Amino acid sequence: RIAYVNGQYVPHAQAAVHVEDRGYQFADGVYEVCEVWSGKIVDAPRHLDRLGRSLGELRIEWPMARRALEFVMREVVRRNKVRNGIVYMQVTRGVSRRDHYFPSEDVAPSIVITARSANPKVADATAAKGISVVTYPENRWPRVDIKTVALLPNVLAKQHAKENGAKEAWYFDKDNNVTEGGSTNAWIVTKEGVLVTRPAESGILRGITRSVILDIIAREGLKFEERPFSVEEAKNAKEAFVTAASTIAMPVVKIDEAIIGNGHPGSVATQLREMFHTATDFMMV
Ligand code: PLP
Repeated sequence: RIAYVNGQYVPHAQAAVHVEDRGYQFADGVYEVCEVWSGKIVDAPRHLDRLGRSLGELRIEWPMARRALEFVMREVVRRNKVRNGIVYMQVTRGVSRRDHYFPSEDVAPSIVITARSANPKVADATAAKGISVVTYPENRWPRVDIKTVALLPNVLAKQHAKENGAKEAWYFDKDNNVTEGGSTNAWIVTKEGVLVTRPAESGILRGITRSVILDIIAREGLKFEERPFSVEEAKNAKEAFVTAASTIAMPVVKIDEAIIGNGHPGSVATQLREMFHTATDFMMV
C-alpha cells in the first residue's frame, strides 16, 4: 500500500508525520472520507467543498491547490488499485514547536492521503440484516459542523456501542432529540411514511451522503421533513437508518432495547441504498 505524505508517495508502512505535528499534539486538523466506487471517487467535489469550509472555519490554509489535491486523491486510489473502498484525507495546521497559539505564517499545513479497499459484499450483507444502535448523551463541543480529527468523544461513544452489542451510538441532546451517530447521520421513517432527519443548522455534521439522499428524496418526490426527532419517536418509527460515505444508507433494526418496525431492514432505507450510486455526482476520471 502507498500513502501520500506532504508531497511524497511512500510505502504505507513507513508513512509518518513529525512528533510535533499539531494534528498529533492538539488534534488541530480536519479530514474527509470519500467512498471509492468502481474506481471513482464518489462526490469528490462536495467533499472538497466541505474540506474548504472546515479549513476556513479553523483558519488553516489549503495544503495545495484544490485541483492538485483532486489529482493526488485519484493518484492514491490508482496506486493502491482500489476499485471499491475509501480514500482518507487529513490536513493539519502543520509542524511547529508545541505552543497553543497558531504557528508563524511560514509553517505549511501537513497533508496525508491514504486509500484502502473494502468488499462491497460485506457491507451489503450487513445492510441485509440491519444494524443495532444504542443511545448516548451528547457530550461533544458545539462545533460538530467542522469535520475535525478531534474525535475522542466519538471514539468513546462508538466503543460504548460496541461493548453493548451495537454498531453505532446515537447521540441525544438535552431535549432528548437525536443529533447524529458517532460517525453517521441519523434518519427515521414515520408510520405515515415520512422521512425525517435533523436540520444541519445545529448539532450535526452536514453529511455529504445526507445531501445526496436529500437529492434523491427531491427527485423521487418522497415525503420528507427536516426537523428534530426524539429518541422516543425513533423507537416507535417504522424504519430507521444511518448515512455516511463509508456505509451509504444502512438500515437500523434496533435502538437500545426497542425493535424497529418488524425487526428487518425497512423498504425505504433499502431502496435509498440501492439508488445511491445512480444519484451521486462522481468525480470525472
Ligand atoms: N456525522 C459524523 C459525526 C461523521 O463522522 C460522519 C462521517 O464520518 C457523518 C456524520 C456522515 O458524513 P458523510 O456522509 O459526509 O460521510
